[in-house]
Amino acid sequence: MQRSYVIKPELGKEYPRVSHGKGIYLYDTSGKRYIDGCSGAVTASIGHGVEEIAEAMAEQARKVSFAYRSHFSSEAVEELGAKLAEWAPGELNWSFFVNSGSEATETAQKIAIQYWQEQGRPSKTRMISRWMSYHGITMGALSMSGHVLRRKRFVPLLADYPAISPPYPYRRPDGMSLEQYARLCADELETAILRVGPEQVAAFIAEPVIGASGGAVVPPDGYFQRIREICDKYDVLFIADEVMTGVGRTGEKFGIDHWGVKPDLITLGKGMSAGYTPMAAAMATEKIIDTITRGSGLIMAGHTYSANPQSAAVSLAVLRYVEAHNLVEKAAVQGAYLLRKLRELADESPLIGEARGLGLLCGLEFVKDKRTKEPFPLSRGVAARVISRAFENGLLVYPATGGLEGVAGDSVILSPPLTITTEEIDELVDLLKKSVQRVQ
Ligand code: PLP
Repeated sequence: MQRSYVIKPELGKEYPRVSHGKGIYLYDTSGKRYIDGCSGAVTASIGHGVEEIAEAMAEQARKVSFAYRSHFSSEAVEELGAKLAEWAPGELNWSFFVNSGSEATETAQKIAIQYWQEQGRPSKTRMISRWMSYHGITMGALSMSGHVLRRKRFVPLLADYPAISPPYPYRRPDGMSLEQYARLCADELETAILRVGPEQVAAFIAEPVIGASGGAVVPPDGYFQRIREICDKYDVLFIADEVMTGVGRTGEKFGIDHWGVKPDLITLGKGMSAGYTPMAAAMATEKIIDTITRGSGLIMAGHTYSANPQSAAVSLAVLRYVEAHNLVEKAAVQGAYLLRKLRELADESPLIGEARGLGLLCGLEFVKDKRTKEPFPLSRGVAARVISRAFENGLLVYPATGGLEGVAGDSVILSPPLTITTEEIDELVDLLKKSVQRVQ
């Protein structure tokens, strides 16, 4: 094979070359087949090789791929905006299009800060976020992220944001009810706002279900309702980071819909274009956009490729596909089946402390001692070994270890395409079981 000059995630490691994909399967150039058990990075949510999307892509490319957003709008982008407004809860009708989840969360951060500035409250610039969270890799997004492993090298360059603990029901204090625990965790936000001073705080950002830094950690009922109350009490905007949970992944259109809470801003990425093109968005309410329109009239954000017609057409085709195939409902049904199978696996395996999840966003947490829930030292790399055995066995699994040594376990995410069938779930779980057995 010719020498590679591409910087890969692990330098010096040989990666197989992907050849093609169909449905939940990917194939490499040697002909080996892999079940995409995590939709790549929880992204390829309608599966691979969907003809309708390829058609929409070619059709738009023949018309026009790129026209700069300062010069033109386009049919594709307008229709996508309208479709998202239809999908989103409450008054979240406005979309600012970007190209990655990191750009989406930073754009939401900027819109939140600007919203207060336009009302003569310029000191409200600070964000509050949670440990065991991930909001992206660029400096602003990483500042908001409580993913220790990814922050570590850059801490001196980061704004010092994460301030509160996430709800982590598996590790709640012994004897505490979920209801009490929801209240305890949410009330940490009030304490944090009071410590910093409400006049300093622009927004609170959280993932409805914790993804990359924890492995599908689902909050207890009541948590987000209380978060909403606290945000309202202190004039703090609530940003739901739905980059991983949005567009049906959890069995509702948006993760936050499970609790009927209406955020002020929502960020989307990943499943929004299901891997067919880079596409992401920060969505804001009528109130926020009215305020900025009446003020400076210009949101100080955006990228060269923001709102390009090509990505918009692809993303629109993906949303229509999700609707036409009832994939939100399917995610709920197939997710319940997958979770049941994962719980059976957890019962059998001495390594798995908990199987958890919502819809088709599921996670496994590995522990040294199931009774005490003592985590493995992260240097043992148990999740990494499971992922590597699974890869050998032809199954793709996503890492979700946030680097909180001693506080959280080693976790992985299982999040196959929302199109997955029951037989395919059985096949996925069989391969996973074999992979876990080879590690224990
Ligand atoms: N927000 C959440 C909740 C995510 O899970 C991710 C990526 O995993 C991001 C933001 C960053 O998205 P991207 O990798 O597209 O920049």
